[in-house]
Amino acid sequence: MPADTERSFLQKFIDPQHDSVPQEWSKKEGVVYWMLREHRAKQNRGLRLAQILAHEHNVPLTVVVAMRPDLDTHNIIERTLDFMLTGLEEVEATLQRKKIAFSFLIGDPTNEIPAFVKKHPTQLILTDLFPLPVYRQWYDDIKKKTGVPLIVVDGHNHIPVWITSEKREYAARTIRPKIWKHYKTFAKPVSNLEIQKQTLDLKAASWQTIRKKITAQKGYPPLEKPTGRQAARKALKQFVTDRLPHYADRRNDPAEAHTSQLSAYFHFGHLAATEVSAAIEEAKAPQKDKDAFLEEFVVRKELSDNFCYYTANPLSIQAAPEWAQTTLQEHKSDAREHTYRFQELLTAQTHDPAWNAAQNQLLQTGYMHGYMRMYWAKKILEWSKNAEKAIEIAIQINDLLELDGRDPNGYVGILWAIAGVHDRPWQERAVFGKIRYMNFEGLKRKFAIEDYTAQWETKSLSET
Ligand SMILES: Cc1cc2nc3c(=O)[nH]c(=O)nc-3n(C[C@H](O)[C@H](O)[C@H](O)COP(=O)(O)OP(=O)(O)OC[C@H]3O[C@@H](n4cnc5c(N)ncnc54)[C@H](O)[C@@H]3O)c2cc1C
Repeated sequence: MPADTERSFLQKFIDPQHDSVPQEWSKKEGVVYWMLREHRAKQNRGLRLAQILAHEHNVPLTVVVAMRPDLDTHNIIERTLDFMLTGLEEVEATLQRKKIAFSFLIGDPTNEIPAFVKKHPTQLILTDLFPLPVYRQWYDDIKKKTGVPLIVVDGHNHIPVWITSEKREYAARTIRPKIWKHYKTFAKPVSNLEIQKQTLDLKAASWQTIRKKITAQKGYPPLEKPTGRQAARKALKQFVTDRLPHYADRRNDPAEAHTSQLSAYFHFGHLAATEVSAAIEEAKAPQKDKDAFLEEFVVRKELSDNFCYYTANPLSIQAAPEWAQTTLQEHKSDAREHTYRFQELLTAQTHDPAWNAAQNQLLQTGYMHGYMRMYWAKKILEWSKNAEKAIEIAIQINDLLELDGRDPNGYVGILWAIAGVHDRPWQERAVFGKIRYMNFEGLKRKFAIEDYTAQWETKSLSET
């Protein structure tokens, strides 16, 4: 695609709530792409647009990552940090081949990015859409401190969130037709990066120093899952060949492990959504399996970003529909048969073998099967003092241990399970009120749940 055609196409992904590309460039200053959510050099809309603009004005392009050093105090554990840093090392190597400068800044991004921009005069900053309160605050702070236009690009969804819908959608059924209406127009690949013409002479990142300076919480078993874009592409290929066939009938069975297990790669941006859906569309698998996957990966995933984009605090019970808040309030004082402290939940010490197995799977692998995530969160509601507390605990454990945690999909999943978001009222019962209920008997009826529990027996953390 010619650069000017691609530029117009990519500009459609610029969030209108923030700045747009200036018509006039007053000075010959560089372009910065602040890599926030999309940790990849290829198939990255924000980065490619930044390069087109830099080449158009014959100025340098620099890719910048900024990370606080005290991630241990932000509930980030070592294996998650390692997954992220190794992925970024691969990004730097790919950028080097394209002669694009890369700078890893250690410190609070709202201080480090302005300091970088001060040192290296910058005409504009492009970054990724990440529709969560913490990043909205970062955008505002950085814009205020630098005075440089900040362009926010949706590099995550197939269709820009604001084009799919101008409002928060009620449920999958309301967003689905809007998504498919726009899908063909927007779900297109990005061209490869070119060799960068103008580049700043920056020192290559010292990964040893980065790893030494950034600290995360210890005490959890290391992961076997390989990280980075190459590993993600391999995992995608394997899924398409081995498990996409029968995805429709087998994806819900926790013992079968038939899902893609690609979520961590999407969360860190190792894969672009459009390259995954293209691989699914081109696959030889039966159409019903492809449709079932695209329902999760396009409709459900895009619904999560829609929810977070249009909700001021998507991590709170106030974001739940009114009927759900009312029913949970009415059942707040219902007696709970079992209650557990945070530590008991964290270490999988409940009376429920299926729940413990799910928690153990998470502790040991950084991943819990999708069907069990629903059960897991609903039991936290059943065993907590109230729904607010249940949401708080579920978010805390989810974000601490899930490799794909801290994601709109997670906040929406938790609010769906505990507070009826994107769901409807069901038959009223104790504790849950009209929130949809799940129980162990249901798991036993549907699956060979004992195979799953046998697979993920409780081990103490020191054994792992
Ligand atoms: C309580 C709870 C917590 C969750 N926490 C997270 C989380 O922290 N991070 C996260 O990415 N997802 C979360 N989910 C959504 C979903 O369970 C996971 O995305 C999925 O299980 C990941 O496994 P997979 O890649 O094998 O899924 P697959 O079945 O292979 O699905 C393919 C992709 O589609 C998307 N997807 C699948 N199901 C959903 C869904 N329900 N909502 C939105 N997107 C979906 C994901 O990107 C996923 O990787 C949560 C759901 C619940 C109910």
